Amino acid sequence: MSPRNSKTVEELANSLNLHYEDKVRPCIDLVDSLRLLGVEKDLHLPAIAVIGDQSSGKSSVLEALSGVALPRGTGIVTRCPLVLKLKRVERGVSWSGRLAYQNKVQNLLKPDDVGHAVANAQNSLAGNGKGISHEMITLDIESSKVPDLTLIDLPGIARVATGDQPLDIEKQIKDLIEKFIKRQETISLVVVPANIDIATTEALKMANKVDPFGERTLGILTKPDLVDKGAEETVVSTVCNQVIPLKKGYMIVKCRGQQDINSNLSLAKAIQNERDFFEDNSHFKPLLEDGKATVPLLAERLTKELVEHIGRSLPQLQKQIEQKLEKTAKELRKLGDGVPLEEHEKNNFLIKKIHEFNQILSDVMRAEEDLKNSDAKVFTKIRTEFKTWKSHLDKKSSTLEENLRDEVEEYTKTQRGKELPGFVNYRTFENIVKKHVVELEEPATQLLTDITDIVHTCLKDIASDHFEAFPNLLKAAKEPIEDLREQEYEKAKEKVKAQFKMEKIVYCQDGIYSWKLQSVKQKPEPIRFLNRPINADIREMAQHLNTYFTITSERLANQVPLIVQYHMLHQYISKLQTAMMAMIGGKNAEKLIREDSDVARRRKLLKDRLERLKKARLVLAKFVQSAS
Ligand code: GDP
Ligand code: MG
Repeated sequence: MSPRNSKTVEELANSLNLHYEDKVRPCIDLVDSLRLLGVEKDLHLPAIAVIGDQSSGKSSVLEALSGVALPRGTGIVTRCPLVLKLKRVERGVSWSGRLAYQNKVQNLLKPDDVGHAVANAQNSLAGNGKGISHEMITLDIESSKVPDLTLIDLPGIARVATGDQPLDIEKQIKDLIEKFIKRQETISLVVVPANIDIATTEALKMANKVDPFGERTLGILTKPDLVDKGAEETVVSTVCNQVIPLKKGYMIVKCRGQQDINSNLSLAKAIQNERDFFEDNSHFKPLLEDGKATVPLLAERLTKELVEHIGRSLPQLQKQIEQKLEKTAKELRKLGDGVPLEEHEKNNFLIKKIHEFNQILSDVMRAEEDLKNSDAKVFTKIRTEFKTWKSHLDKKSSTLEENLRDEVEEYTKTQRGKELPGFVNYRTFENIVKKHVVELEEPATQLLTDITDIVHTCLKDIASDHFEAFPNLLKAAKEPIEDLREQEYEKAKEKVKAQFKMEKIVYCQDGIYSWKLQSVKQKPEPIRFLNRPINADIREMAQHLNTYFTITSERLANQVPLIVQYHMLHQYISKLQTAMMAMIGGKNAEKLIREDSDVARRRKLLKDRLERLKKARLVLAKFVQSAS
């Protein structure tokens, strides 16, 4: 025996706990208390997850770190994520353990009880078969012989399903592992046996996939005692980060082999054996001297990593909590405080709900909603549609100006009756006018349809939003929203149609017409007509047509939007408001405001989350304050 081994086993085991700075425990406590609040449901906390292929030695490493025998056996032994919270207490304080899953808590009296209790918990979460579950089991251990550390043990990666395992077990396990290791908040501890080719391990491939530069990955080689003679140098190169480099590098440990377990070798004795092994092996001894070998050094390293990692994660964590808080509060506001219980209060509640809704509708009608709520923008959309309509008209008159003359020429050639050339008559004028006006009817109807859709969607959205918690009320509101849309659309369509029928009369006030004609005649001759022989009659007719179109398009530019707006905004909304008011005071009041059964549940969930997050924010703020 080397002189070092004269240290007692007890002393060696305790060396696990040396050299921790004062800030270690508070830092880990912070995350543990956040986890205890349950905020893990809302956001991710800094953690170390242990992953590895089956039988790579994960459980053995965790055992060595925790001093507690975890369930072991062949096949998939870890079937749920197991949060292993190790807390170092003063010497003399007795060992204590506590297992928690779902809503159950079980106190454990001695380390030997752990294995059985964990196995039971797994059976109840993942079934008695060989399936896995995403539900977490938390194991708290307080002892003077453990490092301050929280680790998450995950199922080993199985290659093939056996016995009663689901066929897609490999995929299931990989999905579970990936869920944890892809988080930026997780450091992955990849356990790899030293006696196999490291490049072939599934666990390292997975870690590499989510963390290509190995910034959050620490490799741990196990079973150095099983390395073949002659292969030691490859193992040393791996640990020295020369084979598959990771930013965080590698460590190597030796745990209890099957024989040690069979012969009941204590974990404390195993630590001594480990040290002897590295000291006595000339290949591996330099690794020990380098601080890259043995479980106690690994424990120290992990604690350091975790503390640093927590420190780095804090700002992000704070930000996440703020964001989540805001989002939760907003969702909660939408659900409201719930319906009052007293009968007369109920009717008042309905009145209040409907008044609020009608107020929002009035805002939409007066285009004030746009100012209050940046999402709505109803009138902005309507205005855009009106502009499109106007530009449609403008385009028509501007192209008309030049084409009219050709058209009149063409018309006189083909449609002329017994009259002599040059006698362009009023009927020609009328025919050309009608032909062009008719072409505007289609875009006018389109305008109506588009606006109808905009307003209809808007009203539906407002109702869904405002009556989210009350399915009956929402249903009741949807009825008039649909009916009135149909009703007002038909009326508006009738009027638009009538307008175009009227346009066939070809009419304008004399004074207005003469004045417009004057300004058209004053326009300079279009360039392309400059070198052509001028037919005065044709030119005159073109000018008349031009005048009339300017007038018509000015009339339609206002008239169509006015019709559409009147029916699809004002009438639609004010009739909807009336229909809503009619719901007040009826026999159905109680039914209308009956909450969705889901809403009470969701409200509770949101309230709980809000509480959790507020507490978490407080815990975090206190920590940051005391740390600075
Ligand atoms: P897991 O499936 O990854 O949890 O692997 P286990 O921790 O259950 O280990 C699988 C087998 O390897 C067990 O029989 C362990 O005793 C054995 N084992 C683990 N670490 C070592 C080691 O360092 N040396 C030797 N010889 N055997 C080991
Ligand atoms: Mg295991």
